[in-house]
Amino acid sequence: MRKKIVAGNWKMNNDSQQTETLLEELLSKKPENTIAKIVVAPTFVNLQAAVKQTAGSNIIVAAQNMHQAESGAYTGEISVNMLKSIKVNTVILGHSERRAYFHENNALLAQKVTTALAHNLTVIFCFGEELADRQSGNHFNLVESQLREGLFHISESDWASVVLAYEPVWAIGTGETASPEQAQEMHAFIRSLLHTNIGSKIAEETSILYGGSVKPDNAREIFSKPDVDGGLIGGAALKADDFLAIVAGI
Ligand code: PEP
Repeated sequence: MRKKIVAGNWKMNNDSQQTETLLEELLSKKPENTIAKIVVAPTFVNLQAAVKQTAGSNIIVAAQNMHQAESGAYTGEISVNMLKSIKVNTVILGHSERRAYFHENNALLAQKVTTALAHNLTVIFCFGEELADRQSGNHFNLVESQLREGLFHISESDWASVVLAYEPVWAIGTGETASPEQAQEMHAFIRSLLHTNIGSKIAEETSILYGGSVKPDNAREIFSKPDVDGGLIGGAALKADDFLAIVAGI
């Protein structure tokens, strides 16, 4: 069975005290018996404390980004080994905000993916079309090229460390959600791409998350779709009760 995953991307929110408080609440209220893997991605400066605080629990701490180089003169950047040295073994790559505001393109993301996988990190690879792509009917092509150029170069064995996150940009932080049918349609398309280009076993085993204004009141219906294996959550991940209500929708 594919892994069910609910990941919270906290973006540039929460100082160290707020991070500790939110984690405390998540740790005390989270269900022990959920089949969902719970992932949270605090900002870099709070990662180490978050790893310590969640040690021994079923909460996985992820980074929101990393640099593609192993080390060197890249002021302000964070390397894969820095993450590993504080026991962060999961990284989000390709988030639409990184693509839009920090000009991360498919070629750069391909390098980041290669570096992360070479060091045995799990990669949550984000991609998705903008509104204009959908309106012009180009959304399937766009998603296909993001996957081909950013991800399809990896080796067969590396797919076990990849989680896909389809996030239509027009639905991120806008309150506008893809309908469960729109999400399913795209997820089925993505899985068919994996079948054709990578192989059936990997296609059936790779988790595909949906992201874009998932909330407690729409999560269950979206997650009920056969090719939706969980969610990547932004705004609603900042409140423990909302995030855990979304987890309960799995
Ligand atoms: C996101 O940023 O990945 C996201 C899905 O945000 P939101 O849930 O706020 O739309």
